[in-house]
Amino acid sequence: MSVAGLSHRLGGRDILSDVDLVVPAGSFVVLLGPNGAGKTTLFSLLTRLYTARCGTIEIFGHDLARNPGKALALLGVVFQQRSVDPDLTARQNLAYHAALHGMPRGTARRRIEAELERVGLAAEADRKIRSFSGGELRRIEIVRALLHGPRLLLCDEATVGLDVRSRAAILSDVRDLVRERGIAVLWATHLIDEVEPEDATVILHRGRIRWQGRAGTMAADMGRGRLQDAFRSLTEEAA
Ligand code: ADP
Ligand code: MG
Repeated sequence: MSVAGLSHRLGGRDILSDVDLVVPAGSFVVLLGPNGAGKTTLFSLLTRLYTARCGTIEIFGHDLARNPGKALALLGVVFQQRSVDPDLTARQNLAYHAALHGMPRGTARRRIEAELERVGLAAEADRKIRSFSGGELRRIEIVRALLHGPRLLLCDEATVGLDVRSRAAILSDVRDLVRERGIAVLWATHLIDEVEPEDATVILHRGRIRWQGRAGTMAADMGRGRLQDAFRSLTEEAA
């Protein structure tokens, strides 16, 4: 997936300015930025909730503006806001999503079972979503995002509001998907402790890319000893 020269205005303000970003097939990329950086706005452009007026978005060979159907079929999304129906069971939510993607029923049923097994929720899936813990709910949302076999998974603050253990479990689960299935992931977060030194990392602040590279080299690049200090100094300066 690649984004080039992407800018976007909302309410008369520049929210994203000239953003360039590449997520190579099969790689894990962290989009790291404090609240208000523009991460969710970028995701809204990638999923066509908003239309990009300036810049291009290409999803594995398909231009999003010219060929949205093909481009969007390759995307799975875990939104920042919860987006499952609390009054349906987990299985019902998943079946509904599969039907939306035009998946034949038998295929949908098999995939849903396989993914639920993988995340250890097969036995819980006939409960209403309302009764799930925050971590379980996120797992269901990840399962849902994977059902149609996307090549790129977008995760927008997928661990927000979870306790430390659930956060770590979800992040490691998503890292496994990259390793084991070759899915590409764009992982948006404001939490530097979710970043590993070897992660390809893009720092977004006030709508601009401030730095990109392997996280482990950021501190040295910035003349700082610790990653946390480098991140802070990159995101403290005025716009
Ligand atoms: P992040 O997800 O990184 O926290 P957002 O993309 O949600 O950042 O927001 C980026 C900036 O855009 C913020 O300053 C926010 O107030 C502003 N913003 C978001 N949505 C709108 C909107 N619909 N109208 C005007 N400003 C908006
Ligand atoms: Mg956000």
